[in-house]
Amino acid sequence: MKVGIVGAGMVGSSAGYALAVMGLASSVVLVDQNHDLAVAQAEDIAHAVPFLSSTIVEAADYVGLAGASVIILAAGVSQKPGESRLALLERNAAVFKDVVGNVLAVAPDAILLIASNPVDIMTQITQRISGLPANRVIGSGTILDTARFRSLLGRHLGISPQSVHAYVLGEHGDSEVLAWSNAKVGSLSLADIAAQVGSPITEHVRATIDDGVRNAAYKIIKGKGATYYGIGAGLARIIKAIAQDQHDVLTVSCVTPEIVGVKDVALSIPRVVGAQGIETDLMPDLVSAERDGLEKSARLLKDSVESIRL
Ligand code: ADP
Repeated sequence: MKVGIVGAGMVGSSAGYALAVMGLASSVVLVDQNHDLAVAQAEDIAHAVPFLSSTIVEAADYVGLAGASVIILAAGVSQKPGESRLALLERNAAVFKDVVGNVLAVAPDAILLIASNPVDIMTQITQRISGLPANRVIGSGTILDTARFRSLLGRHLGISPQSVHAYVLGEHGDSEVLAWSNAKVGSLSLADIAAQVGSPITEHVRATIDDGVRNAAYKIIKGKGATYYGIGAGLARIIKAIAQDQHDVLTVSCVTPEIVGVKDVALSIPRVVGAQGIETDLMPDLVSAERDGLEKSARLLKDSVESIRL
């Protein structure tokens, strides 16, 4: 499978590296308006390949994306310390108008995988600009927030995150909702497993995990200026589900006809991902506070999208 990446900055190149490590793609093509950067990133990743896989990694112009099955859109301007994701909106919308047109001209059948923030809004903008079916325009959404939630819960319980089934829903951002009420470990409810392993989920534990998930990106940005390894691996994970037609349940973003009463909005819920892109949406059972939180998140995103003139 050929994978294209537009935007060879920290996120795009980390995704390229993760794809090479996982050996998922036969070819990875990096495109950036700064062509020298794309060439340098491709060379650097290509030098790692002999130790890892046989993926061909190269830089190209847009024409090099022809034949790609999936194209990651990671172009744009990155979040500055203290800057909200929504504040990035205007700047990145303009970049995407340019990028999506160029991509579609050479690869009209590719699945588009959006990584640029604010990701839910960029996903909805991309779907609008491209006119592609919504299930072929996928945002990385809360895939990373969900991974952080599972990892913190798993650490508290002394259980591998891979055995934790818990989801972060809604916006990839401040209004996201940690769905505590339906979190499971193995087949057990959280209360059950916590009692059995002797690690109760107290209010303090809950607040600490909630803060750890919600503020992880802000803390990393404060310390090193940007986040990229986690999302790079998350993007490769989504591509694995597509490349291997795995029908995995992942929290990704996509324009959805209706979520908790809000129509036509892109946000994350668990969705089945396979070769065709998003194949099915799965709406979890929520308690009323979570449902209200999700509705608030959906309305906030919808209002932001409606305020943009394209
Ligand atoms: P992040 O941390 O989100 O990856 P970066 O600033 O490191 O952010 O990377 C974003 C990349 O997007 C930069 O390399 C930049 O050159 C690229 N870029 C910005 N605008 C365009 C565009 N119109 N077309 C292609 N690439 C673009």
